[in-house]
This record gives sequence, C-alpha cells and structure tokens, in this order.
Amino acid sequence: MANRTCKHTSLYLDVSPHASKAGFKQLELLTSKELLEDEMAFPGPLVLPGDDLADDPEYPPQDFNEWRDEEERNPVTNERKTIYIVPSPLFEKSVSKMQAWSVCSSAKEQDARAVNAPDIQDIVEYLSAFFYGMDVKIFDQPFHWHKWESYDGAVLKHSNTETRIGLKSPSKELFGIRCRASPDETSPMQVNLNDVLDALAENIPSDAHSIMILLDQDMYEGDGDIFCAGRAYGGSRIAAVSTFRDQPACAPKDNGHAWPSSHCAAYINQLCHLQTYTTKPQPVQRKPNSGPLHAAIKATTSTRHESSSSSIPSEAPTAQWLGRVAVTMAHELCHCLGLDHCVYFACAMQGCGSVEEAQRQPPYVCPVCLEKLAAAIGEGAVAGWNDEVWSMAVREKWLRAQRPC
Ligand SMILES: [Zn+2]
Ligand SMILES: [Zn+2]
Repeated sequence: MANRTCKHTSLYLDVSPHASKAGFKQLELLTSKELLEDEMAFPGPLVLPGDDLADDPEYPPQDFNEWRDEEERNPVTNERKTIYIVPSPLFEKSVSKMQAWSVCSSAKEQDARAVNAPDIQDIVEYLSAFFYGMDVKIFDQPFHWHKWESYDGAVLKHSNTETRIGLKSPSKELFGIRCRASPDETSPMQVNLNDVLDALAENIPSDAHSIMILLDQDMYEGDGDIFCAGRAYGGSRIAAVSTFRDQPACAPKDNGHAWPSSHCAAYINQLCHLQTYTTKPQPVQRKPNSGPLHAAIKATTSTRHESSSSSIPSEAPTAQWLGRVAVTMAHELCHCLGLDHCVYFACAMQGCGSVEEAQRQPPYVCPVCLEKLAAAIGEGAVAGWNDEVWSMAVREKWLRAQRPC
C-alpha cells in the first residue's frame, strides 16, 4: 500500500503507465543512460493523470538552440545581473482587515502556531546558490496595501463579486488591484496577479535582470481559474509568487510520496489504476548504492524513520513550506531567463497542473535546462565563459555547485 510506511522498493525511472494513454511521447534525443551512464540520475517526467503533460501531451519542447535564439529572452549582462525580491507588501492602518487574507480558511489555531512562514533571508540564500553568478537582493523599498475608494479589505462573501484594493508603490503611485473571495474557499480573499505585476513593472531598478514579488496572499489570474501560485512574464522581467497555497494548513497531505518518493511504483500504480493500460512500463527494483534517486529516497525515509517514534519533527512543516516556495520562485525566475516548460525529464521546469503535482516534482533542473541556465548566467556574468580553455572548467564548477547535496 502506498502510504507513509511504504518502503518504495520499486521505482519508475521513466514515464508512468499513464503517459502513453495520455498521448505523451518521451523525446529520445537524450537518454539518461547515455548522458550519465546511470539511469537513476535523471528520471523521466511522470505524466500522471491530471498532470500538466497528461493534459497537454504535445506541449512543444524548447531545446537549447531554441532557447538561445528566443527573441524575447533578456540576456544577463554585467550591468543587469541582479534579481530583486520584493517582500509581501505592508499594511496601511486603514486596511488592517486584510491581514485575515493570508490565513488559510481551514487552518486551526494550533496549525498557525506550529509553523513559521518562509524567511526571506533563507529564500535569498537559496536563490543565490541556484542562480550562482547573479546577485540576489531584497528590494528594500516597501510596497503597501492601501484603501481603494471606500473598500477597506473586509472579506467578501461571494467569489463572483470582484472589487479592488489599493497597492501603493515605493514611488507613492496607487494601483487598483482586483480582488475576490476564492472560488474554492481555501483562502478568504485573492488578489489578481496581473494587476500586481503591472504595479511591479513600473518599479524595475536599472541594474535588475528581473524582479519578483513574493505575496502572502493567494493569487488568481482570471475568471476561469481557482488560484495561481506563480507567474512570470520573462519578456518583461517580472514575476510574482504566492506563499499561500504551500502553507501546511492548506497544502494537500503528500502521504509520504512527495519527491523523491513520487517515483515509487506502488504509489504510481495506485494513481494510475494500472489494469486499464495496454502498455506497461516496467518499474525497477531499488537497490543499495544505486544512484542519486535511491540516495535521495534513502535520505528522506531515514529522516522519517528516525522521527517516527515522536511523529514528525516540529520544524518539518516550516522547512517544507520554505522548500516549496523556494522551488516555485526558482522556476519562475528561470522563466525570466527565457526557459520554457520542460518536457524532457522530471525537472523543476516542468509545467504544473496542481499542488499535488508540484509536490511530486524535483527541486533540481534537468541537464537540458541546466545547460540553458548555465549559459544564461555564464555568458552574461562569468568572466572567461566563452574562452575555450576556461569554459569547461567554469562549467565543471557550475555543475558541482548545482548538484543537490
Ligand atoms: Zn512508496
Ligand atoms: Zn528540464
């Protein structure tokens, strides 16, 4: 049974049995065996029912050359190599009611006490390592939530009524941000991410490669959606990420099968209802010392095992929340470097259809995306990148820095 006590004895290293039914064909230009002589190194995308690639199996791949030639891509340069992170806006007194917006509707008081929201310094440290070679800075001039006409942020009853709340930029310009009650009632109120991004676009510092705002509030994009955890407009160098849906009180329970254990065959078979498929990819037995995926699973299960007598360690929900938000932020910032969604491997740049799918995806980028990322930063900000002698050394160093510990 694929539950918390599952030992994950066999794994799918390529797509799940659902992929062929969904019409997804894995690209054969690279196989993980050819690439690293270790099939455990870079497993395929899972493509489980409801996953982004299952719903859109013909999503076009973006190879390295297409990435490099993309007209809208903003190169990193020595003058523009800083990523700015804007902390969630502060509250003017007149909108103190808005503080209720960032509390998950199903949260119990003890949930809120047991967990700390992601610390922005931790996030900056993570992103500095992820985008090594670029500078990551906190944008130190605050945005403020503000009254918009007479609306003071009181929670609305129905999601079909939209109103506006004010967002004041550091230059004191006031933007009217559309907001509504969330259709699934998970959050009290959501803000429209496109309106927030419009305000952000007016405040890009001259040395910024890109700027991202991190919101405590839940976000939505339009009438048709329920929520949106992150969005980037790479061409405009702006992005927004919400921490709201990843808070432990409202994120779905992963049942012990978040990445890396998401490759567990028992878990996948359960989600795929295997008997309905004609072609069945074969899972492989997990063996000791059998590569990075094995090591990652071993690390997560041993942590869990040690703590099983006293249940989950108290800092785990805080760490998990931080981890998920950091990965989403890295994903959106990669869009700002011109990377499109990845269809090659299990990868942090895969498109994502649900919070559950996000939990199954890895925090690292695959070799194809890493090549783009390394070139984006290397060509722009690493001296000697294009020098023949240096290039391999820089790449080697880069690859080592990127390797998950
Ligand atoms: Zn399992
Ligand atoms: Zn990738």
